[in-house]
Amino acid sequence: MQGTIFDFKRFAVHDGPGIRTTVFLKGCPLRCLWCHNPESWKPEPESAEREIRLDDRLYREKEIIGRKVTVNDLMKELEKERLVMEESQGGVTFSGGEPLMQPRFLLEMLKACQENAFHTAVDTSGFALQEDLLRIMPFTSLFLFDLKMMDMRKHEQFTGADNQLILDNFRWLMQQGKPVRVRIPVVAGYTATRDNLTATLEFLTPYAENLEQVDLLPYHRIGMHKYDKLGICCEMPGESGKPDSQEMDEIYSLFNSNGHKVTIGG
Ligand code: SF4
Repeated sequence: MQGTIFDFKRFAVHDGPGIRTTVFLKGCPLRCLWCHNPESWKPEPESAEREIRLDDRLYREKEIIGRKVTVNDLMKELEKERLVMEESQGGVTFSGGEPLMQPRFLLEMLKACQENAFHTAVDTSGFALQEDLLRIMPFTSLFLFDLKMMDMRKHEQFTGADNQLILDNFRWLMQQGKPVRVRIPVVAGYTATRDNLTATLEFLTPYAENLEQVDLLPYHRIGMHKYDKLGICCEMPGESGKPDSQEMDEIYSLFNSNGHKVTIGG
């Protein structure tokens, strides 16, 4: 069984408990305005151009983003990280893109991880088929579920799809009794408006006791250069989209005072 990944990150500390290895699967059905991983969007490996400056000269070099991997190959790579993952009570996180864009490969990877006693987390946008979520459920130790915007039209405007499927999947997932963490990208003027935060809190109120925690992920522009490299027009919010520390503290307090365990950064 083969899948396509675009990154393999060792020593990840923001993608679930402990020190983790995060496998980034290629392909995403959404197009969030603030996305810092546009190389995740296309499901197949793609070519990009990178610039290298040597002795004041600019060279352009083609590179391929994404690679096909087999379950066996990836398990061998993960095995090398076992010690650090076990000692830190970490594990393996499957992220993207949207990992459920490759449901069969994800399922086989999760099964192999469970057979090899790795803790597993799936970081999902929630824009996925419920039947695929159901299939991976027995092999997933923890779900990291992104909630971006509560207003259906604004969700469509800023991510390319409305949020009905996502919210339905979230409600359904919470009924299954699996550990779930919510992840909220905090983008000033977009997700971090008073209206959206209040609506998100209201939506989460019935689940406050059962949610593991809420991770607030401050917006950054680190991925901006990737758009150029890929020849995609970058519409990421400017510097004003970055929440300052006072804003983050206020949002932290808002969720915390409503009974949620909160972290900044995951
Ligand atoms: S769901 Fe994640 S990877 Fe997909 S476009 Fe949005 S931010 Fe990017």
